[in-house]
Amino acid sequence: MKIPVLLYHRINNKGINEKYNLSLYRFKDQINSLLKQKSAYRHIITFDDGFSCFYHHAFPILKGKDLEIILFLITEKIGDRGFLTWNQVSELNRCGISIQSHTKNHFFLPRLSKSELIRELQDSKRTIEDRLSKEVKYLSLPYGGKSSLILETARQVGYVKVFTSDIRFAKLEAFEIPRINIPGYISEDKFIKIIQVDCSVLFPYRACQLLKNLIKLIIGYKRVSKF
Ligand SMILES: [Zn+2]
Repeated sequence: MKIPVLLYHRINNKGINEKYNLSLYRFKDQINSLLKQKSAYRHIITFDDGFSCFYHHAFPILKGKDLEIILFLITEKIGDRGFLTWNQVSELNRCGISIQSHTKNHFFLPRLSKSELIRELQDSKRTIEDRLSKEVKYLSLPYGGKSSLILETARQVGYVKVFTSDIRFAKLEAFEIPRINIPGYISEDKFIKIIQVDCSVLFPYRACQLLKNLIKLIIGYKRVSKF
C-alpha cells in the first residue's frame, strides 16, 4: 500500500505562503482535513530542519492529535537563533513526536567524501540518541541530495530508513521513503487529492523534478547546491 508522507519546513503566523513557508491558518485547515481522512487513509507528517516555529506554531495544533509526526533535526543548529532548543526537543519527544536526524550540518551530501559522510550521518544520530536516550532510526536528506554512496553509508551507520524529497507516494516497507513537499501556496483541492493518494495530482511536480534532475545531469552536481 502506498501512503503520502508529507514534508513541511516553516509554519508562520504572518500569513506568508511560499515554497517552504506555510501560514498557520492554512496549516490548521490541512490538519483538520487530515483528521477527517484518517479513518480511510494513513499519513505521515514530517518536518525538516527543526525551526523554532515548529514548537511555537505547529506543535500547539498537533499536540494530543492522533497523527504520526516525525521531526528531523540538524544537530549543530539546535539552540541557534530560529531553531529549537534541546529543552523544547525533549518536551516534543515526551509528547510523542518522533525525533530523527537531518544530519549534523545540513551540507549537500553528494559533495562529501565517504569519511565526511560518516561524520555527518553518525554524529547527528549519536547526539540525538545521547540527549534523548532513544534510538534514532531515520535520516532525512538535506536538499534531497541523494546517491548510492549516501544510501549505503546511511545503512552502515545504522539508519533503518532514509527520507528523501522525491515526489512520490511511499511504500513504508522500503528503505527509501519519498515525500511530498507541501508548499504554502498549495490549493486545498490539491492537498485533499494528495492525502487521498490521487496519483494524478503529482504529475506536474514529478515532471518538474525530472527536468531539474536532467539539468543537474547536464551541468553536474557540483554547480547545483540547492533545488
Ligand atoms: Zn533541510
